[in-house]
Order: sequence, then C-alpha cells, then structure tokens
Amino acid sequence: MTILIAGGGIAGLTLGLTLHQIGVPFRLFEATEEIRPMGVGINLQPNAVRELLDLGLADELNAIGVKTRQYGFYSKLGKTIWEEPRGKWAGYAWPQYSVHRGALQMMLYHALIRRAGKGCITTGARAVGYENNTGSAVLLLENGDRVAGNLIIAADGIHSALRAQMYPNEGAPIWNGRVLWRATTESDAYFGGAAMVMIGHDSLRVVAYPISNPDPETNIATINWIAEKKFDLSDAWKKEDWNRAADINDFLPDFAGWKFNWIDVPALIKGAEVVYEYPMVDRDPLERWTEGRVTLMGDAAHPTYPVGSNGAGQAIIDARVIGARLLDHEVTPQALEAYEAEIRPIATGVGRANRAGGGPDGVLQQVEDLCGGDFVDINDVVPHADLAAHAEKYKTLAGFSVKALNAKPRIIAESTWKH
Ligand SMILES: Cc1cc2nc3c(=O)[nH]c(=O)nc-3n(C[C@H](O)[C@H](O)[C@H](O)COP(=O)(O)OP(=O)(O)OC[C@H]3O[C@@H](n4cnc5c(N)ncnc54)[C@H](O)[C@@H]3O)c2cc1C
Repeated sequence: MTILIAGGGIAGLTLGLTLHQIGVPFRLFEATEEIRPMGVGINLQPNAVRELLDLGLADELNAIGVKTRQYGFYSKLGKTIWEEPRGKWAGYAWPQYSVHRGALQMMLYHALIRRAGKGCITTGARAVGYENNTGSAVLLLENGDRVAGNLIIAADGIHSALRAQMYPNEGAPIWNGRVLWRATTESDAYFGGAAMVMIGHDSLRVVAYPISNPDPETNIATINWIAEKKFDLSDAWKKEDWNRAADINDFLPDFAGWKFNWIDVPALIKGAEVVYEYPMVDRDPLERWTEGRVTLMGDAAHPTYPVGSNGAGQAIIDARVIGARLLDHEVTPQALEAYEAEIRPIATGVGRANRAGGGPDGVLQQVEDLCGGDFVDINDVVPHADLAAHAEKYKTLAGFSVKALNAKPRIIAESTWKH
C-alpha cells in the first residue's frame, strides 16, 4: 500500500504530510544529501494557506511568513496603475502569506519528520526512472537501488527525471528571453509593510514584497525583490539553476532612474548580499501526467512563469487533491487519473495565461503601450472596471476567487483525518 514520492520540495513534503494525515503509508526520496533552506521569497495564496492550516500548521506558518495586505501594479515612473487588498483584507477567510521558500521547505520538513518519523525520508536518493508493473511500480534510484511500491508520485521539480522518462523527446525547459535576478535586502518598508508591488513593463520590471514584518523602531524589513530584463531570444543564456550567484552590474544600470518617493530600486539592488540569476523558463503543457501507477505533480507536472504568485501554492493544492482522490479510489491508478482530470486543465490554463500576458501583470505592458507609463488619472488610460475585471479573471482561473474559495468545502474532509 506504499506510495513512493520522488522529491522533497514544497510539493513532495506537503504530499508526505497529507498522506500521514489520512493514514496512507509513504516513503519520500530526495536527491540532495541534506534538505537546506534554499531560494528566496514566494507567495502563498489563501487557497494554499487554507490547506496548510488544515494540516495543522497555522502557528508554524505565522512564525515564518508575512500576511500580505496589498498587491499593486506601478508604471516605470512609479505611478499607481492598480492596487487591491489581499488575504483577509480582501474578504478571504484565510490570509495570503509572503514567505522565504527555504523557511517554508524547512518548516514542512520538520513538521513531517516530527509527525511521521525521520525514517520516512531518504536523502541523497536521486530518482532516475520507474517501472510500471501489474499491481506495483518500482522507483529506480541513481545508486542502483530499486524500491517497490503501489504508486509513484514525481515531485522532482522542473528538471524531473520521471517526466523525462515519460516524455523522452521533450528536452530542456523553454526560455522566453527574460532573465530574473532575485535577492533579499534589509530596507525601509514601503506602503506600511506587507505590500507586494510590480513596477515597469514586459521588458524591464521589478517585483518586491517584504518577507518579514517591519521592525517597529526602525521600519526596516527584509524585502524580497526580483529584477527582470528581456533579452533577444537569440542571446545564449546560462542554464537555469536556482542557486547561481549573479553580478548586479549586468542589470543595475537599467534601473538607475527607478527612484520613487516610496521605493528606491537601485538602493534595494545594491543592498543585497547575494543576488541569484535565473532565466524565465517554463515547459509546454502535457496531454497526460499519469502513466499507469506513476503521476507528476508540482513543477514536475506544470512549471510556469512566476508571474501570478501561485506556483508553490498550486504544488500544495496538487498534494491535497491527490490525498482526496486516494480517499475516493483507495491507493489505485484510478486515484491518480482522477487527480489529473481535476488539476491538469486548471494548471494548463494558468500556464497558458502566464505565457500570453494574461497573468495579473498583463496590465503593466498595456499601460506602457498606451502612454509610456505616464498619466495623471489611470482611468483615462484603462478604465478602472477593466482593471478590476482582469484581476478577477486570473483569480478565478487559478482557483482563488474570493467568493468561490470561501464557499468551497475542504479538499480533504476533517472526518477523514487520522492525525
Ligand atoms: C533550490 C530551489 C530554490 C528555489 N527558489 C525559488 C525561489 O526563490 N522563488 C520561487 O518562486 N521558486 C523557487 N523555487 C521553485 C519553487 O519551489 C517551485 O516552483 C514550487 O514551490 C513547486 O515546488 P516543487 O516541490 O514542485 O518543486 P521544487 O521546489 O523545485 O522541488 C523539487 C525537489 O525535488 C528534488 N529533486 C530534483 N530532482 C530529483 C530527483 N531526480 N530525485 C529526487 N529528488 C529530486 C529537488 O532537490 C527539490 O527538493 C526553487 C526551487 C528549488 C529546488
């Protein structure tokens, strides 16, 4: 009855916690020797936060995250295009959190070993493939070990080895010509703290949000920021690697003039201790995630551009839906098929929207095209009602529209929780 999980990122660890909660035996195999707090900031929308609360992680999440209060778009001249409240301030029953990815991963890891015991995770165990047999599946590890189980879930990220076996001709992730530089800087909190901002347009953009609450005396917070620049597609860029350090002189001059009375972008960039660079990549949507007793989840299934603040959240939702369908269909391939039928159309829609400028940030380029980012009243450039409709459309697509989410029953009914 054992489920084998390949990958101990946000997706794999949340799945482990979910299976423990509903009493399904599992083993998790993580490639790195030691799970360490890697990455910078991510956002968890209320739909994903709700699931972490259902996993009994409210205090832990609160200890590492900032409850995001506001979200907004600003032109390259610092002018306000659109602002909206977030989390409970927007009427959701659950908050939105901005959090350090590494802190979230460690929080999930510690909760999992506390609850299910250290033995449920094997580190230094890289999955390289699988075999589908009648009644069982075998996870193949790089060291030659063969581990048999009932189902295999690939949570091994954008470079998934198991996806590569399913789709041997797929090749590398697809670059869209943009490079992201990501870092954190101790800096003055703007807009009272807990505000996420996107500034600029398609070719040059900054996203910033605090991942700590401001110090009450100094107003200093840890600000997570991403500077983004578009290159010619014929330029060769280095392979995506979440941990490659960058030189700020590659992009600082592009943002030299971005000093507004509420945020000083050049100072933010110069204040970072270490900056990571990453080409903006995704993959084409797949026609199937499930092959017999093996399925894909998280970034292994649906890697997308980080423009809608829901990549990590979708990985969490995947884990919970897998748990729910296992309860419906027991530990069978039918459960995997049912999970895929529910989530794949949503993830495909989000991935396509993020690619086509249909993400929530699409308004930035629209305003740049219409007026170069300079205006007195945004309503004269894009009517307020259009901006509101665009924002709502993406939330509905990604599954976090306020009304629908508040009315939705739990993904996993409380009556089924064993722990
Ligand atoms: C080191 C790192 C840093 C990141 N930093 C950021 C960030 O700053 N901001 C952001 O928005 N997103 C970041 N991400 C991506 C983000 O975590 C994911 O987009 C999202 O959370 C979905 O999570 P996931 O668990 O599906 O994939 P991931 O978070 O990528 O996790 C995949 C896990 O599988 C492991 N793994 C990989 N290959 C194998 C294999 N063959 N066998 C076994 N295990 C394997 C990896 O070590 C990792 O622990 C980062 C990912 C990684 C791995």
